[in-house]
Amino acid sequence: MLSDSPLTELKGVGEALAKKLEKLGLHRVDDLLFLLPLRYEDRTQLIKIGSLQAGTRSLVTGEVLLAETAFRGRRNLLVRISDGSGQLTLRFFHFSRTQQAQFQPGAHITCFGEVRRGKNGFEIIHPEYRVLRKNQDATTSDSLTPIYPATEGVQQRRLRNLTDQALQQMSRAPPQELLPAATTEKLGMPSLADALAYLHRPPPDADVQQMLAGTHPCQQRLAFEELLAHYLSLRKVRALAASEGAVALREGNEDVGNFIDDLPFKLTAAQQRVVNDILNDLAEPHPMMRLIQGDVGSGKTVVAAIACLKAIACGVQAAIMAPTEILAEQHWRSFSDWFQPLGIEPAWLSGSQRVVARRESLAAIADGTAQLIVGTHALFQEGVDFHRLGLVVIDEQHRFGVHQRMALRDKGVAQGAHPHQLVMTATPIPRTLAMAAYADLDTSVIDELPPGRQPVTTIAIPESRRHEVVERVLSACAAGQQAYWVCPLIEESEVLDYQAAEASYAMLTEALPDLRIGLVHGRMRPAEKERGMKAFKEGLIQLLVATTVIEVGVDVPNASLMIIENAERMGLSQLHQLRGRVGRGAAQSHCVLLYKAPLGRIAKERLSVLRETNDGFIVAQRDLELRGPGELLGTRQTGLPEYRVANLIRDAALMPQVQITAEGLMRTSDVRVAAIVRRWLGDASRYGKV
Ligand code: ADP
Ligand code: MG
Repeated sequence: MLSDSPLTELKGVGEALAKKLEKLGLHRVDDLLFLLPLRYEDRTQLIKIGSLQAGTRSLVTGEVLLAETAFRGRRNLLVRISDGSGQLTLRFFHFSRTQQAQFQPGAHITCFGEVRRGKNGFEIIHPEYRVLRKNQDATTSDSLTPIYPATEGVQQRRLRNLTDQALQQMSRAPPQELLPAATTEKLGMPSLADALAYLHRPPPDADVQQMLAGTHPCQQRLAFEELLAHYLSLRKVRALAASEGAVALREGNEDVGNFIDDLPFKLTAAQQRVVNDILNDLAEPHPMMRLIQGDVGSGKTVVAAIACLKAIACGVQAAIMAPTEILAEQHWRSFSDWFQPLGIEPAWLSGSQRVVARRESLAAIADGTAQLIVGTHALFQEGVDFHRLGLVVIDEQHRFGVHQRMALRDKGVAQGAHPHQLVMTATPIPRTLAMAAYADLDTSVIDELPPGRQPVTTIAIPESRRHEVVERVLSACAAGQQAYWVCPLIEESEVLDYQAAEASYAMLTEALPDLRIGLVHGRMRPAEKERGMKAFKEGLIQLLVATTVIEVGVDVPNASLMIIENAERMGLSQLHQLRGRVGRGAAQSHCVLLYKAPLGRIAKERLSVLRETNDGFIVAQRDLELRGPGELLGTRQTGLPEYRVANLIRDAALMPQVQITAEGLMRTSDVRVAAIVRRWLGDASRYGKV
């Protein structure tokens, strides 16, 4: 087949360019067809300056009113233009004398770029522009301009040329249609070749709004196939796991029963149900792959502990991995307390551990003296060899990626036996999204909070009334309660982050001289951090000033008041997680969201969602709508799939049909399944050896 030919067969592609293209995952001519435009630019119409909107990329024409250089930290060239309906500023940070000279007052120019709100009305920074000759009209394109994903040193023009050549080849040898005809017919979808041709070169009469929104049938055709590819790939991971061997954990029922009986509380019905799911899975000779969803405070840790105990009672090792040191330390402490009567002492492994201690842990992990291991992602790094790993628990899974999940799984493989895997998350997600993200896992939900919890009351207060909040902290602490003061998250700067925390700490120690106040931030040495947390947990400290390092999992039931500074800067799920640190005891808890006025629309919306509900499911749904699934699932940090055409929110409605199609294909055609996965995820599938 022509399309299977190497890229070097195309005109203008030598070894050097082929190398660069490889970085984009392009190896064959066929691959180019699936390098779809990231977006389209609409240069089909001129926008009146008076009706520009911030955040859009627009084509504008106008007459230069003035051009001047100004100093704002560095030299700027500012050009003001007008088209009679309004004025627009063009701002250049890099410019030559020649350029400067082009912008004579009275000259007509046309420009294109992202419109943003500046100090004096709308502006475009570094627009593409052209100076028009006398009586020359600004030209518009007659179709949408495709913009391809960028790679270093390959320009858009070049990518357009290459895709042109690939499209020509395609007309002679169209790529194989991999979707079952029944599916495309049912959904009324265009053929693959038609869809590809359309998306690479939208015709002049394309519905611009639909194309920009990503809802055109041709886009949906490809989104469907892409979602299908990801889904199939995860399902293959799962099928593979199901066919692998694991140690069936069937002993130790008595130990588990006694442990549950001796707990200081009674398991909720939901916890008991999930424990049963887990114990059933563990008894199978194939690895468990189970996800537990449960809102903050629903009591996931003890469920994990029961699973670990079961594994240990059956003579295999159990490991629990948490996303932060603070959380891992806390688990280590809870597990130490719970398991001490049974003579089980957890081993510790983290990145910041001293060499000697680490060496000791590694030895105990390798020779099996460590039955239970608690740690951070250091657990699945090089040089950690388990003796007989039978169960892996991953807490707050949304902080890790699929990769890490797979890596830890592969680690435990010994004598053909894979470890069982239990994954926990406090981010409940809508069903269609869960289908796409966790198709390799079985799911259990803890949909009930321990009894006696009172919902946290949440209020939002402008920063100008900070003194009232300080008073409130004082009276809560005077009444024997404890409080958290969470400091603003300053992205990109750990230094600013901790300085902000130190500043709040200084302010609070001065305002509240009689309180015992502690400070914890990410820059502290682990031992210091731990000392601070421990003192707070034991009640020696009444008010804990902290950065968002305490976000996940920290559990101090006597803390009933939480102040969150600059709440307007944080995401919904993050605020919900933070708020989940209070409301863990019997006392009525409060959360105060301090914000800097004025609030933007989205920030206002977020704060009001939190005031209205304590239900993590609703919070997640709203977060999804406001921010998108990447942020919600932690895609950003972890490399969960970045889709090329699909968008999980927009295309969620496709998921049920994706699922049906996938099940059908898996029953009937392994070859097709492999081809679809390869087409969209490449040879080296993201999810390991599928
Ligand atoms: P999360 O699900 O957020 O990880 P934790 O496991 O930290 O929640 O549990 C929160 C608190 O609830 C802990 O103090 C824990 O000991 C307590 N807890 C867990 N289960 C129960 C229960 N069935 N009854 C009472 N308290 C419980
Ligand atoms: Mg937890």
